[in-house]
Amino acid sequence: MKKSLTDELLKIRPRLFVSACLLGQAVRYDGRHKRDDGVLALAENLDLYSLCPETAIGLGVPRAPIQLVAGEERIQLLQVNDPSRDYTQEMETLVCSRLPELTQIDGWIAKRNSPSCGLAGVPVYEKNGELIHRHGRGVFSGTMQMLHPALPAIEEQDLENPQRRGNFLLQVYTHCRWRLLGGTSLTREALKKFHHCHRYLLMARSLEGYHQLGCLLESGKESDISETYLRQMMMILKRGERRHDLLQVIRMILQEVADQLDSQATGSIARAIESCRWRQTTVSVLRNQLRDNLVSLGEIDLAIQLFMNAFPQSKQQGEKSPANQ
Ligand code: SF4
Repeated sequence: MKKSLTDELLKIRPRLFVSACLLGQAVRYDGRHKRDDGVLALAENLDLYSLCPETAIGLGVPRAPIQLVAGEERIQLLQVNDPSRDYTQEMETLVCSRLPELTQIDGWIAKRNSPSCGLAGVPVYEKNGELIHRHGRGVFSGTMQMLHPALPAIEEQDLENPQRRGNFLLQVYTHCRWRLLGGTSLTREALKKFHHCHRYLLMARSLEGYHQLGCLLESGKESDISETYLRQMMMILKRGERRHDLLQVIRMILQEVADQLDSQATGSIARAIESCRWRQTTVSVLRNQLRDNLVSLGEIDLAIQLFMNAFPQSKQQGEKSPANQ
């Protein structure tokens, strides 16, 4: 069988920064690590690069713990036992100094609850040590998300949820394809091709979002069109697939390949769509049936191939990813 372009696209290995302690490095304030086997298993298909923001700004191991403290104008990163030691500025400077590297990665896996790495839900204290709320964001992650809002990011615990893990990996692989094609320097014409190849992935999440992106490609400002496109695309991919939109996409795909499938296969998939519409069959069964029939076709539209194989399944992931549900 002729090798498809998707085979080539799926050979890509996205690059991720990961909180170093999750990879088993003993860099925490107490000299320990927080090795996470689920994160490490991702190394089968992804290139993981460790990063510990606190040691990167020169803090030693072990070290005095730090925490988020509500200051008069902003949240600060202060040493617990000596609040005169303020690391906020150093942490922000660290992100700026590593910005060129950050534009060469496709995602960030962050340690939950850390005042430096946490993405959300980090405790914030009064200067007197009293807990005010648990809605803070680590200073490193917060600054990074402000400067690079389209970068996919997740905390290690959320990777255990198949839906969130699947959405994150989908974003990471899509980000990687965008980056390898040219990233922020992609022209309007190149973006239109990219958009076309990803149409079914987008439509299955939001038909409206897909059309809005199309409008952006017609009328968006040339200077930052690629960045704006990616940011809006990532917002759409963060959402799970919507049953109604998904069935619509499968009908479109069926129409596209109808003249290549025999009538028995077409009829059987059409019946499965109806059963799924009435919730007598799961989306997973329908999707697998479609996939089995498409595999036999060999060369098919790239957008269909991306839709069916959004990212490779690791041995551990097996059938758990939402791409297969
Ligand atoms: S949570 Fe972040 S800052 Fe803290 S030890 Fe882990 S990598 Fe370093």
